Amino acid sequence: MRHLIWFRTDLRVADNPALFEAAIEGAELSAVFIASPGQWRQHGMADIQRDFLARNLAALSSELSALGIPFTLLEADTFVEVPELLGRLVAERGIDALYANQEIGVNERRRDRAVQQTLSIPVRVYNGDCVVAHGSLAPRSGDMYKVFTPYAKAWLARVRAEGYRLLPAPRAQGQALAVAPVSLPDGQVSSEAWLAGERAAHRQLAVFCHERLREYGERRDYPDAEGTSRLSPYLALGVLSPNQCLAAVEAELGCLPLSRGEPGFSWVNELIWREFYRHLLVVYPRLSMHQPFKAETRALKWSNNQLSFDLWCRGRTGYPLVDAAMRCLNETGWMHNRLRMIVASFLTKDLHIDWRRGEDYFMSRLIDGELAANNGGWQWAAGTGADAAPYFRVFNPTTQSERFDAEGRFIKRWLPELAEVPVSAIHAPHEWLTRHGMAQAYPPPVVDHARARRHAIAMFDDLKDRQ
Ligand code: FAD
Repeated sequence: MRHLIWFRTDLRVADNPALFEAAIEGAELSAVFIASPGQWRQHGMADIQRDFLARNLAALSSELSALGIPFTLLEADTFVEVPELLGRLVAERGIDALYANQEIGVNERRRDRAVQQTLSIPVRVYNGDCVVAHGSLAPRSGDMYKVFTPYAKAWLARVRAEGYRLLPAPRAQGQALAVAPVSLPDGQVSSEAWLAGERAAHRQLAVFCHERLREYGERRDYPDAEGTSRLSPYLALGVLSPNQCLAAVEAELGCLPLSRGEPGFSWVNELIWREFYRHLLVVYPRLSMHQPFKAETRALKWSNNQLSFDLWCRGRTGYPLVDAAMRCLNETGWMHNRLRMIVASFLTKDLHIDWRRGEDYFMSRLIDGELAANNGGWQWAAGTGADAAPYFRVFNPTTQSERFDAEGRFIKRWLPELAEVPVSAIHAPHEWLTRHGMAQAYPPPVVDHARARRHAIAMFDDLKDRQ
């Protein structure tokens, strides 16, 4: 029996259901990854993520060769060419069955259906990216979950009842092989600041659990505090699985916190958010097609002000924490969750610019860019999403800054022009800069927040009047 495992966003050998199932006794395994640069471009994938993908593929290739599993890297510019390419590989190698883990984007699902229709061998697809399989939680009413809290309750009940499944890496199927080289067209932006490969991801997970998990709930909102795990780049490419995250939490705490208030629960709760957004993407495919969750918000009149958008992108809005966050994103490819919420609220509710432009910009810059979480986060901020949050909840960029970067440490790290501004003035430095003859050093606020907030609320009120 010859089995082919097709790696996609599951770049790991441990806890990989497709690999585990393919490696049944007596099966001869081989592996393939298909690079699709044209498709990645269409999806707006960031250069830094492409670079990180290439480095993680190299690490995967090395893990597979140690297990005696030959690995091939192929290229199909877009998904359209994938079925034929796989068909040729399957025929050349006399493959009896193809194994893969599910991907949830609409184009990925279309591609997979085409592969199933083209190949004349069984194509076996597994859930490898969620603790609780997509679409498997549904309320008794028969409708699907649309709001986080009931979804989370059902998720927790399922995990309490059934636990989670953690699969080992398959046993070596023979002598170690020479490592297959991985050469992808250059990503242009280096991801070297992040170690690649599942071993590195596991070390980072273990260190996080040991040193920061217990205080996560108190520290996670402070961008300068290193309070979060920074594991998102690994979870986005499947270098790490959410089951492995739960196992590490359990190993550290001696039990899995599945109730509010237990130490470590707030981190588990973030993993549930991750699965909630993935659940939404599967159940509501329109989310993959640039559509808002709330259909009525299609009529919102967003601004086309290109200048404001450019100032936001470049971190030149005159709101220090917004600017520091954007410059951090531009430079490092990563942004803290609190800051993602603040800059997304600022773009949509202060500048009144369409959330889809922010979503695309994030995707083009993030090392952890991931459709479900990115779309979910943007729609949450814009008030077009599945959440119960009222549309008139608008973040105040100055008070957020006072609360979450009280000493201005994060701001000063990214805005060197504000280095001399005292803490008392750091969140709104213009008056101080003017008094000290430095008004030119930093741009004036691009909008007046109070007025912009009223306009945002009016935009949504307008929608209600039309219904
Ligand atoms: P931790 O706080 O340590 O959380 C652990 C893991 O849980 C994360 O790695 C991530 O996989 C998941 N997670 C945490 N918070 C969320 C959340 N709110 N929604 C979904 N999953 C979550 N996350 C991405 O992985 N990719 C994105 O493209 C992305 N875009 C976002 C855009 C906006 C506008 C917003 C508000 C949030 C976005 N997020 C995205 C969610 C979140 O900001 C990041 O997952 C988090 O900042 C990653 O840091 P961490 O690994 O230290 O997270």
